[in-house]
Amino acid sequence: MRLGSQNGVKMGRKIIIVGGVAGGASTAARLRRNSEEDQIIMFEKGPHVSFSNCSLPYHLSGIVPEAEDLVLMDSPTFLKQYRIEARVNSEVIAIHTDSKTVSVKNHETGEEYQENYDKLILSPGASPIVPPIPGIEKVPVFTIRNVVDIDKLNKFIKKEEIKTVTVIGGGFIGVEAAENLKIAGFDVSLVEAVDQILRPFDYDMVQIFHKVMLDHDIHLIVGDKVKEFGNNQVILASGITIQSDAVVMAIGVAPETYLAKMAGLNIGETGAIETDHNYKTSNPDIYAVGDAIQVYHALTHTMTKISLAGPALKQARAVADHINGKSINNKGYLGASAIQVFEYNGASVGLNEALIKIQGIKLEYGVVRIILSDKVGLMPDAAPMHFKLLYEIPSGRILGAQAIGKGDVTKRIDVISAVIKFHGTLEDLKDLEPCYAPTFSTAKDIVNYAGYVGSNLLNNVYKQVNVDQVRALVENKEVIVDVREPYEYSKGHIVGALNIPLSMLRDRLDEIPTDKTVYFHCRTGQRSYNAVMALQNLGYNNVINITGSFLGISFYEYYNDVTLKRQPIVTDYNFN
Ligand code: FAD
Repeated sequence: MRLGSQNGVKMGRKIIIVGGVAGGASTAARLRRNSEEDQIIMFEKGPHVSFSNCSLPYHLSGIVPEAEDLVLMDSPTFLKQYRIEARVNSEVIAIHTDSKTVSVKNHETGEEYQENYDKLILSPGASPIVPPIPGIEKVPVFTIRNVVDIDKLNKFIKKEEIKTVTVIGGGFIGVEAAENLKIAGFDVSLVEAVDQILRPFDYDMVQIFHKVMLDHDIHLIVGDKVKEFGNNQVILASGITIQSDAVVMAIGVAPETYLAKMAGLNIGETGAIETDHNYKTSNPDIYAVGDAIQVYHALTHTMTKISLAGPALKQARAVADHINGKSINNKGYLGASAIQVFEYNGASVGLNEALIKIQGIKLEYGVVRIILSDKVGLMPDAAPMHFKLLYEIPSGRILGAQAIGKGDVTKRIDVISAVIKFHGTLEDLKDLEPCYAPTFSTAKDIVNYAGYVGSNLLNNVYKQVNVDQVRALVENKEVIVDVREPYEYSKGHIVGALNIPLSMLRDRLDEIPTDKTVYFHCRTGQRSYNAVMALQNLGYNNVINITGSFLGISFYEYYNDVTLKRQPIVTDYNFN
């Protein structure tokens, strides 16, 4: 619909956007790039548009010194630079699909008014879940969603008397909050109901982050739920009571669907707004993007909720393009994400073992679990990178990957993410050409090695067990051979393991039993792989590599050894 002309500019459609941050602001900007004619009004119920949600926790540590620094663009700038009206403190309280109008409440003046639209885009996000836990009024409880929230929390905890803070929920937001509170000097507890934090990582991988939490003196409690609150106390189901001057509730988010429901829009099976592949809702003039919608998972082929900035921004661009008649290509999402926890970085994409089990996905898959140096070992900051890759059997199609280390894990997971998008296989990983210089990586990068190891496993070239199976091997008194050098063995080894260094293996073959399975390990699994291959070539068919080896075992066992006070299966750990 053309509406005539204003200030010499031909007037086009009137497009209204609900929500003025990630999805909303991006849609608005792209709409303007697509057309100078359309009138664009963006309503935001809070006082700020276009702030960096993802940087909010970093205000607590002072890495982002001022709360206002989090705001990337204000309403006058939107108007001047883009001729977009960004109305803050303005909540859309109802959508009237028959008249194609919205009701808006101005929270500054109390005024309510209506605004008509040709196209309406919903990007209201997701709100933190705060369950009605008994006694919740007895502790100061905070959530982290926007600049107002983080400013309020930061001002509260900076009071002299605040010493202890408990974060409830070990997802990305909870972990980042805990880390930044710790850096700020607080006594921090982190409580997670399931047996691990950061569920994009499998249990075997996430033990690295559990250890990092312990190393930095965060009281991490997993597998325990908050039962109730006392006066400045968090009381867990196990009976543990944590003194808490403040509580940050970060147990998850729920899509903001109340407007959509009121307007009679379809809600999907996940509880989020249903859209088609062009992000159009069940009403032809209403689109929806971001945390409020459900999206197609490109690997599970099911609808899912993905609360991440990247997908929200891509959907925003797609909607603005679709409204302007441009074709869009919605291939679904993989949920690629990254996190830094103190000196460690983690990144993941696609399926992990837990997700496959929880969702009951009917899929035969294999696992590559390798540890390699993230750059040439001579470089002073070279560090081990722990890498896990899932591939489909028998196709070798890549299903997902996780990487944790001190170096650039995102580079590796970005590569895998691209390979998955293009339906790549283990063979494709072998063939990839990542850029290389000693300060960045190794000439054959971990993603290439993942391809080599995976295709060996797929083709039954050798057999492996993972670090999470080693405790049972030790308890069953299986034969374990440590092929590291004696000086490495003497600093810490698996209880009962026999030390036959790779350099002496061929001279000590008589010590390797032929009548039972023999498990080999070294520091990371590379030397023991060589040992297994050598023995297989000599006719042994009873040899198995322990992937991840002593470094992986040390990380895998440590947190539970310490917190459960159980008997270690190693005489000492090695984390380097
Ligand atoms: P939002 O960006 O949340 O915007 C929705 C806005 O709509 C809100 O400001 C809300 O006030 C407004 N609104 C709601 N209802 C109405 C209404 N009726 N009228 C007017 N306005 C309304 N993602 C990553 O990928 N990486 C990260 O590292 C990362 N870190 C994060 C850290 C934190 C602390 C948080 C909170 C989120 C983080 N995210 C991260 C997630 C990411 O920010 C979201 O996925 C993304 O912002 C979703 O965009 P959205 O437009 O759907 O919602």
